Amino acid sequence: MNYTSEVIKLLKQKSVQPTPMRMLVLEEFLKSRTAKSLQELEQLLPHADRITIYRTLKTFDKQGIIHQVDDGTGVQRYASCSDQCSEEAHQDVHPHFHCVVCEDTICMKATRLPYLSLPSGFQTEKIALRIDGVCPKCKAA
Ligand SMILES: [Zn+2]
Ligand SMILES: [Zn+2]
Ligand SMILES: [Zn+2]
Repeated sequence: MNYTSEVIKLLKQKSVQPTPMRMLVLEEFLKSRTAKSLQELEQLLPHADRITIYRTLKTFDKQGIIHQVDDGTGVQRYASCSDQCSEEAHQDVHPHFHCVVCEDTICMKATRLPYLSLPSGFQTEKIALRIDGVCPKCKAA
């Protein structure tokens, strides 16, 4: 499957110049739904250097193309954003499912977070919910 047109469209929509490296990195995020770390992208793109991939991730994060995922392993991972994300603000308020068998982390975009009421005086800045479990792929194996 060819992702080129989708990649270019998305970069334009988020006001990011489509360089070859940005296109390669974004394609990896569109190809599979799992969250990826810098190290994993390096393995997927053996001809790219680490600094360039790192800068690309920072740009994508800033422009609302990918969001940071905390999967509890201590490694920073990223996953592709929803259409509503922009340079102004990320809208990725969804749980992240972390499979304890294959270590994949997947955005649960259709799952709503529970409403949490806080005592007065506490102001929310970020909500993160991680679900640890076994993914369908590993469950079937
Ligand atoms: Zn986002
Ligand atoms: Zn799994
Ligand atoms: Zn996510």
